[in-house]
Amino acid sequence: MIAHNLGYPRIGSHRELKKACEQYWSGKTTFKNLLQVGKNLRQENWLLQKQAGIDLIPSNDFSFYDQVLDMSLMAGAIPERYHDVILNKSNVELDLCFAMARGYQKDGLDITAMEMTKWFDTNYHYIVPEFHKNQSFKLFSTKVIDEFYEAKQLGIITKPVLIGPVSYLLLGKEKEEGFDRIDLIKNLLPVYIDIVKRLDKLDVQWIQFDEPFLALDLSEKEKKAFAQVYNEIRKEIPSVKILLATYFEGLRDNLAIVKSLPVNALHIDLVRDAGQLTPVIGAIPERMMLSLGVVDGRNIWKNDFSKSLTFVEKAKTALGEARVMIAPSCSLLHTPCDLDLETTDTILLPEIKQWMAFAKQKLKEVVTLKKLSLPETKASAQLQLEENIKAIESRRTSSRIHNPTVKQRVAALTDADAKRQSTFTVRKKKQQDALRLPLFPTTTIGSFPQTIEVREWRAKLKKGELTPQAYEQHIKAETEKAIRWQEEIGIDVLVHGEFERNDMVEYFGEQLQGYVFSKNGWVQSYGSRCVKPPIIFGDVSRPNAMTVAWSAFAQSLTRKHMKGMLTGPVTILQWSFVRDDQPRSVTTNQIALAIRDEVVDLEKAGIKIIQIDEPAIREGLPLRKADWNEYLAWAVKAFRIAASGVKDETQIHTHMCYSEFNDIIESIADMDADVITIECSRSQMELLDAFADFNYPNDIGPGVYDIHSPRVPSKDEMVYLMNKARAVIPAEQLWVNPDCGLKTRHWEETRKALIAMVQAARELRTPVAVSR
Ligand code: GLN
Ligand code: ZN
Repeated sequence: MIAHNLGYPRIGSHRELKKACEQYWSGKTTFKNLLQVGKNLRQENWLLQKQAGIDLIPSNDFSFYDQVLDMSLMAGAIPERYHDVILNKSNVELDLCFAMARGYQKDGLDITAMEMTKWFDTNYHYIVPEFHKNQSFKLFSTKVIDEFYEAKQLGIITKPVLIGPVSYLLLGKEKEEGFDRIDLIKNLLPVYIDIVKRLDKLDVQWIQFDEPFLALDLSEKEKKAFAQVYNEIRKEIPSVKILLATYFEGLRDNLAIVKSLPVNALHIDLVRDAGQLTPVIGAIPERMMLSLGVVDGRNIWKNDFSKSLTFVEKAKTALGEARVMIAPSCSLLHTPCDLDLETTDTILLPEIKQWMAFAKQKLKEVVTLKKLSLPETKASAQLQLEENIKAIESRRTSSRIHNPTVKQRVAALTDADAKRQSTFTVRKKKQQDALRLPLFPTTTIGSFPQTIEVREWRAKLKKGELTPQAYEQHIKAETEKAIRWQEEIGIDVLVHGEFERNDMVEYFGEQLQGYVFSKNGWVQSYGSRCVKPPIIFGDVSRPNAMTVAWSAFAQSLTRKHMKGMLTGPVTILQWSFVRDDQPRSVTTNQIALAIRDEVVDLEKAGIKIIQIDEPAIREGLPLRKADWNEYLAWAVKAFRIAASGVKDETQIHTHMCYSEFNDIIESIADMDADVITIECSRSQMELLDAFADFNYPNDIGPGVYDIHSPRVPSKDEMVYLMNKARAVIPAEQLWVNPDCGLKTRHWEETRKALIAMVQAARELRTPVAVSR
């Protein structure tokens, strides 16, 4: 039996990599120092895994930026626009890597960065490979070989990790028409073969090929590519042991492909799909070992040993002990580094902490599970098993987690709770009478620039250098300034600016029961950027109103409508570490009820327009299309539960950004928000065609400018875009707004852009000046 790991977090337990990279980028440290930080991190991680008792330790899981980008560099898939960067003598390979990831403005060059997108359904973002017709590949970066060699010098024979060739191509994008990137496989394969041969010469034993696409829907052509690739590699290098890693979903119909591949081991994710164990055991041929992904690589909960052992037992009985491997479900990249660093009891209560495991602790779990599965070592791990059983039992029965009132309330939900009192047509009329808004009403998405001062106040409050009263005074003054300014330039529906919020999920998490926060639970999001997701550990409830005081204060300062601002239940769920002891839908409904109470309280406090943001609704979609409907049904319902406690006159907005909405447009309509503000400007309103084709019934505010750029759009541009919108959607349905919150912008460009936006709306109104 082998205990192995698929990948370890590379940021360092104190985010050493982030700091070193950022210092290098700003010229504060040398290239040599940066390399040294990387080297230290790799060594630390290898030794840590060795000491933990991991038999097969991964290498090439380290990256200064992103493992997909590393793969592009390895295969020489370097877009032409970076060729000048390579030629520049003072640059090294890593500079090229950073140029591709971040763009390059130096030596008179101005080269844009490559696109970045989400790694499957995680919050990790990778750099999207760019492909051209008949593209050729050539080994460029030898990173994987260098790192294998580096570990070997330390006496560790690692298992190099490579993104498998099929998945690598599928992760990329065709940059011109008229070809299918999967057809590039014949050009790409020689590079992989070259690499494997070189590793073979260095006496590599195992190589891990990550092929996560085997857990997704595949076309026939894509399916065929797998056989071609692995047969070819096997033919060229018969001796190397290949571990084929799949994760994030079950194999389902793709098991038929996998079982015939000439690989030595198959890794499956039993956290996401435990049901696949039986069919996989029944299907794989004798030459194949089976790696059981039992320790959750995507979450922070302690493994339930008793449950995992039943899986191991089953595999052992069917395949024999020698063919079984134990591992985390996927790379540990997606978990924070080390629970031992959480020492401040006030942040993570000891009772809750004992239910958790971060990456370092998960390594131990894998090793302990192996010990418990072998008769000769079983006794030595008995104590750990007993402790584990106790911890699992304590979590199962803890009164901190279980709140009967919340559970009853969710159980008692009916369809009527997810329905507004009247249909949209009736509501629209009543809202027009109540709100008296002009045609093409203007609004913003919620946040205004969070200046250095605002951030400093919050930092000082945390450190105790500012009293809560003084902090509040500052924020109030900032809010009032924002309101006065919106009045002055003539925005129709105002926002208070969200200055009191650090983050749109954390702000609510901090006020909800059932949430905890780690002090150091950082996870890489992209490059040097890390996030610290809040943790939902128990039944969620709202002990007190969360935003009412701020919204009521803001409304008291103006006679214009002040929009209440909330984060929706699906987004709150999506951006947190969630419970694994109940379905996500149940947790979402608990959050939905908390938000519903907040919506009702805002209405009571005199707020007539309330926005419930759901930017993450699209990214929560399951990886397999067959599972979409089930998810969309509960996600939409949760939004409706949150939104439906108010009277017809109260106008509910929602906001979404940065995803493809075309394929879920019906579900978006089903959310039945009175107004949706949505990202559109980057796609030049193309998205609106979907809304028009579908005949989207409610009101829409297609974002008229891209807030992710400091560029100030002109009034004419915005009029042009809105006219495009008006061509496909009746004017009576249209709102005018930016495409997202303005938090990351500076006041200077924000002022100019919004003044132009209001002017644009005024111009749009003139030819058909009808009152709304
Ligand atoms: N109301 C939020 C804001 O303006 C929405 C942010 C988002 O869409 N991600 O910041
Ligand atoms: Zn947004």
